[in-house]
Amino acid sequence: EADTVVQPRVVPGRAAVAGQGPATLRAEAVSAWFGDHKVLDRVSLTMPARRVTALIGPSGCGKSTFLRILNRMHELVGSASLAGRVLLDEQDIYDRGRRITRARREIGMVFQKPNPFPAMSIYDNVLAGLKLNAIKATRDGKDDLVAECLTKAGLWSEVKDRLRQPGGALSGGQQQRLCIARSLAVRPRVLLMDEPCSALDPTSTRRIEETIAELKSEVTIVIVTHNMQQAARVSDTCAFFLASHGTPGVIVEHGDTDAMFDSPQDERTSDYVNGRF
Ligand code: ADP
Ligand code: MG
Repeated sequence: EADTVVQPRVVPGRAAVAGQGPATLRAEAVSAWFGDHKVLDRVSLTMPARRVTALIGPSGCGKSTFLRILNRMHELVGSASLAGRVLLDEQDIYDRGRRITRARREIGMVFQKPNPFPAMSIYDNVLAGLKLNAIKATRDGKDDLVAECLTKAGLWSEVKDRLRQPGGALSGGQQQRLCIARSLAVRPRVLLMDEPCSALDPTSTRRIEETIAELKSEVTIVIVTHNMQQAARVSDTCAFFLASHGTPGVIVEHGDTDAMFDSPQDERTSDYVNGRF
């Protein structure tokens, strides 16, 4: 077969990539501007390894911008300029000489709207990130990786007999789980999820929440959600973002999720988590 590589540099399925496993991601005094418009002001947050961190707060307070800064995605999609540091296990992902592709491989992203390659097969969708990252694998290695990642994303039993069908033929919830499987295939150390369930029905949402709970032992998860019950269900730590009256977004309060929901320290947090806003 033409796409079978005889001498793989990396065989996914093995711990072949140095320094893998969940990492702690830490933002230090991150500020961001779109032109003259400052949208984040000295945001500092530690997102611990093997934990789920939820980012909550009203629309427009900079959560998506913050998430994109965490894996250098904003350098692709917008003109945001940046101050501060982002550390992955104490290594600055913005260090000169550290490649942007490395940050994006180590820190994966899942978006609100499921975005599989619709005409590409389910099988090839899972592997799409390998090519982008020049990770090579044998045919058997690929088969194993596809099965493993679809299993972790909770989709294997539903698609194992139709791996050659196009990704676009799946339901919305299945497409989102396919996107999670695709993210996992490059063995990220952190997975960023920007409102991953906002476009999904309650059953699909529950499936994704179950997946998140199972994944956190092997990948650090950061999830933006507008659903307070979801934040309470899935996250270990939580950060409340706010941008009032045109001021840039800041973190008003962060900490243990149960504590933040049961006894918020700031009145604005209390209002928000209790639906008074
Ligand atoms: P959230 O995800 O919390 O809703 P965003 O990060 O999307 O917030 O947006 C924060 C602020 O940055 C908003 O005022 C938004 O209008 C602005 N913004 C976001 N993306 C861009 C962009 N590409 N160009 C200019 N302004 C932007
Ligand atoms: Mg957003």
